[in-house]
Amino acid sequence: MLPWKTYEAMSDAALKQPEAFWLDVARRVTWEQFPATACRTRTDGWHDWFPGARLNTCQNAVDRHVAEGRGEQAALIWHSCATKERQVVTYRELLGRVARFAGGLRSLGVEKGDRVLITMPTMIETAIAMLACARLGAVHVVVFAGYAGSELARRIDDVTPKVIIIASCSFQGQTLIPSELALNAALTEATHKPQACVILQREACPAQLMPMRDHDFHMLEHSAPVSPVTVKSEDPLYILHTSGTTGPAKGIVRDNGGHAVALALSMELIYGCKPGETFFSTSDLGWVVGHSYGVYAPLISGCTSVIVEGNASTSAIQALCRDHAVTCLFTTPTHMRLIRQDNRNPSGAILPELGRVFVAGEYAEPTLLDWVRSYFQRPVVNHWWQTETGWSITAHFFGLPGGEPAALLNNIGRPAPGFFPVIMPSISDEYCGELVLSLPLPPGCLAGIWKNGASHIPAPYLDDTGQYYRTFDTGMIRDDRAVCLLGRSDDVIKVAGRRISGVQIEGIISAHPAVYACAVVSISDKLRGQRPLAYVVVEPGVQRIPSSQEIIRQVHQALGRWVGLKEVRFVSSLPTTTSGKIKRKCLAGFQAVSA
Ligand code: AMP
Repeated sequence: MLPWKTYEAMSDAALKQPEAFWLDVARRVTWEQFPATACRTRTDGWHDWFPGARLNTCQNAVDRHVAEGRGEQAALIWHSCATKERQVVTYRELLGRVARFAGGLRSLGVEKGDRVLITMPTMIETAIAMLACARLGAVHVVVFAGYAGSELARRIDDVTPKVIIIASCSFQGQTLIPSELALNAALTEATHKPQACVILQREACPAQLMPMRDHDFHMLEHSAPVSPVTVKSEDPLYILHTSGTTGPAKGIVRDNGGHAVALALSMELIYGCKPGETFFSTSDLGWVVGHSYGVYAPLISGCTSVIVEGNASTSAIQALCRDHAVTCLFTTPTHMRLIRQDNRNPSGAILPELGRVFVAGEYAEPTLLDWVRSYFQRPVVNHWWQTETGWSITAHFFGLPGGEPAALLNNIGRPAPGFFPVIMPSISDEYCGELVLSLPLPPGCLAGIWKNGASHIPAPYLDDTGQYYRTFDTGMIRDDRAVCLLGRSDDVIKVAGRRISGVQIEGIISAHPAVYACAVVSISDKLRGQRPLAYVVVEPGVQRIPSSQEIIRQVHQALGRWVGLKEVRFVSSLPTTTSGKIKRKCLAGFQAVSA
């Protein structure tokens, strides 16, 4: 039961007595050593949540529910849109499989603090691998299975994993993609060599295991089970890479204690989801929503989590919601646009158990939200998220009595407890500009950035005063504290809710020997919200001008097809400022030279 009657009472408590507020919220988690302090400033200036307290995240997500009588309840339900398989795993079965797989990882040398890189599609075994790492106090690094070899190699070198876990194949739609080639290419390119690889053999395309290097996932599940290893609250649980403003993807570090506390609170407060109910997130486990609401939050809260491989069709969503009494559905605007395309009937879904629908990750036009409302005939809300924050910055609060004012329903909501957004103080217009968050950020947000084998203060996110976290999102804050998002202030492009940096794509295009200069901008896409558009200037006097398809193939080979580059415009020059910087904002509509 939540102790607050109104939104104002809750946010006041979080603002005026943050220590008492968060220590009280921390009771939702099982600790081996309960925290004496909520928040402490580290020597590097960043913050630790519940310093010195001790717990194990896997114990909170799995063991404790079996001990409390939920053993026979479904913990995870998996559906593959590619192979049409469906699997249900109870909490008791999950405990057995995770404890034994953790034993298998330990037999390969994995110990507390070691990194384990997991690159698998959304499957029960992906969640098992994540939870097994958490059980050992090891740090999982899940890499979206759609990434090609070079991106994988970059992440291997960044986190230097002891072990890599991979499925023998994945699917893009119905197309089967064997994983062996990408793995071998990544291991050849990377400087770091892992001690072992674990391969999950899928019936659709088993891999040829390499003696000495490879181990069979299911064989490791026959190992002796291990007990949860207690870790400090501030020890890292996982690293997740995300595209940022500049340079290669950054490894966002998440802690154990703050993460468990924030997610446990959010399930009740934001999603209104109670223990024993079913939560369905359509996100791939390789992205932050998959980590937080496909695995950790539902399991920590004793709920059942439905996860899917691939883009669930209208009929798959309906069947999963109906068959498993889903109460909360969490999806993306792009997914809803696809469903709308398939299904013009506005009152198509009759799902009596469904309580509410949540969308996040990209701009959702009010007409889309209205359509989703008529389709599901349920409250539908939008909320604001970042990989860095791990849970929503602004939201609607279904756990509070009284419901939400109707005027708020089409925007991204009001700040969740502990988030204090303001318009960047250096900007003169106080109503509209870059949204920054006062420090410290609440529990569950980034504990640092991974670099050279350790977590560091996230300096690229600090404003000049060091007092605010920069979101790089622009927006407005209304008098009733509701936030409206207007877009990004940097070059990040959201393709179907997935984040990619224009600069990252530019780096790949520039590697083509015939490219002199290039710039990538975002343009709107009817289905995916946004997609990249590349402008290319060819090297003067080159023998052969590359074709658009060649450039597109190069980008898709390096990053994966999901990046959705469809168009390359060849231009004679790029517009620049007097200091030589490319004026990307002027580029949309810039004339291409004749083909
Ligand atoms: P990611 O880290 O992939 O979750 O991407 C975070 C970014 O997605 C944010 O900084 C926003 O630019 C965008 N975003 C997240 N949620 C929303 C939303 N509800 N509406 C519009 N943009 C959003």
